Amino acid sequence: LTGPGQLFEMEEVEIRGSKLRTWKHAPTTFRALLENSRFHGEAIFIVYEDERVSYEEHYRRTATLATRLAEDYGVTKGDRVAIAMRNYPEWVVAFSAVVAIGAIAVPLNAWWTTPELEYGLSDSGAKVFIADGERAERLRGTSVPMIVTRAAGDLPPGARAFADVLGEVRAEATLPPVELGPEDPATIFYTSGTTGHPKGALGTHRNAAQSPMTVAYALLRSIALAGKDPSTAVGTRRITLLTVPLFHVTGCFAVMTATMFTGGGLVLMYKWDPGQALQLIEREKVTIMTGVPTNAWQLLSHPDLGKYDISSLGGVSYGGAPAPPKLLERIGDQLPQRQASNGYGMTETTALAIYNSGPTYLAKPDSIGLPLAVCDVRVSDPLGNELPPGEVGELCMRGPNVIAGYWNRPEATAQTFVEGWLHTGDLARLDEEGFVYIVDRAKDMVIRGGENVYCAEVEAAMFEHPAVDDAAVIGIPDDELGEQVGAVVRLKPGMSATAEELRESLTGVLAPFKIPVRFWFRETELPRNPGGKILKTHLRRETLGL
Ligand code: AMP
Repeated sequence: LTGPGQLFEMEEVEIRGSKLRTWKHAPTTFRALLENSRFHGEAIFIVYEDERVSYEEHYRRTATLATRLAEDYGVTKGDRVAIAMRNYPEWVVAFSAVVAIGAIAVPLNAWWTTPELEYGLSDSGAKVFIADGERAERLRGTSVPMIVTRAAGDLPPGARAFADVLGEVRAEATLPPVELGPEDPATIFYTSGTTGHPKGALGTHRNAAQSPMTVAYALLRSIALAGKDPSTAVGTRRITLLTVPLFHVTGCFAVMTATMFTGGGLVLMYKWDPGQALQLIEREKVTIMTGVPTNAWQLLSHPDLGKYDISSLGGVSYGGAPAPPKLLERIGDQLPQRQASNGYGMTETTALAIYNSGPTYLAKPDSIGLPLAVCDVRVSDPLGNELPPGEVGELCMRGPNVIAGYWNRPEATAQTFVEGWLHTGDLARLDEEGFVYIVDRAKDMVIRGGENVYCAEVEAAMFEHPAVDDAAVIGIPDDELGEQVGAVVRLKPGMSATAEELRESLTGVLAPFKIPVRFWFRETELPRNPGGKILKTHLRRETLGL
């Protein structure tokens, strides 16, 4: 698949001081990816409820919005434009327009509360904020100029309606000119907050533009590994049901840009709902469902699973969180003939980097698979020495998919990206065949239904409560969500607070998915190492008996 003259031929280029393999035949800017997508013309790109947007129409809307952003708002190369909305077609237009004119798209989490959204706007220094009505309402007082879509009532003062900004979309609309190169910044996605606040992961045009090639390679390699001819898959139109938000890299890159590249259809949902997913699979003849393990799990558990014609569905793929081998078994039992796939990736790897699918997944259900050709993987000990197969260490990655660093955070960047290698914070081992197994997480994070919750951020918010003396957030195992958020709290002597009061103090400060569902109160000190760091494994064992 990767040899000379092949679709997935690779070439070596130097990126930030490292010689890396890249996809020779993939575009190197998002703008080129978007322009190439016009080739798919009147084929339907996006389906949302009864709205259908063709590739040509998407391009025209994008070019029109891009022109308005440049002319009316003075957005130029390098400016940040924040986007906060549910999975509407306008999300994709806003993202495409911002990135295609060389500005940096900053997708914000739609579940974020007012203070969290304010943080995202100020940390990124956003020049414009493109939002849906609900998000706009949460930031009614902001001084950042707002463009608002799908508002139920009045717009906040000074905001303009998306449709008004767009005005008439003409057939001859074109993108305003700009010089762009592969290393120009394109996106900031917020991720891990070891210091209490999320950091902006700064992705480049190459990251965005080449991610679809990596996804395509993953699919074709799984066909080849199954002993079949991969060329049979080329030209087959894929219809993907997007079950996760576009503001995460899985939605944006593993699904949206990948669809744009291959000319497939993307079926959006306002929010995940397994019953509606079944209806949509039947109605839109969805061929693949992509999301996190929780989505697949909930679809399989839905009482109406047998009532819909979902014969079009050829595959169920998931990633972003550990997938229990039991999930693969259930897919085998309840959806026989459907190919299950498990993809591993991070915000810092522009989504998919390691992939296990079909026969190799059935043979090694606890593995996340093999790295995807352009991605180098190694397992290191704490001193950075590479470990042999079988030994557990930190998973490190290198490749053209790895982002440039963190926005305005040189220290965090230097800690995470060492001599060209991304330190993932995941503990892993390799087997003799190069398959990767995630064994544990070294980073202090809970993954609830695919949504990462950084313990430090929740703990910092809990310390704001006057009665809290010490607090630690831990993951509680959960079949459906993977993990739930729990907190162990020690109160100040003579003070009291109930779980309900603590929960209330976090409401409006933290997005609901981050708020602990269970609190344990303890009188004794939390276990700490000599450096003062809470020993979470120890604490989980003590609290949960694990
Ligand atoms: P994010 O940056 O939000 O995409 O989160 C990335 C993290 O999710 C990784 O560092 C892993 O801890 C976890 N993760 C992603 N994909 C998988 C997977 N397939 N299996 C296990 N953990 C995963």
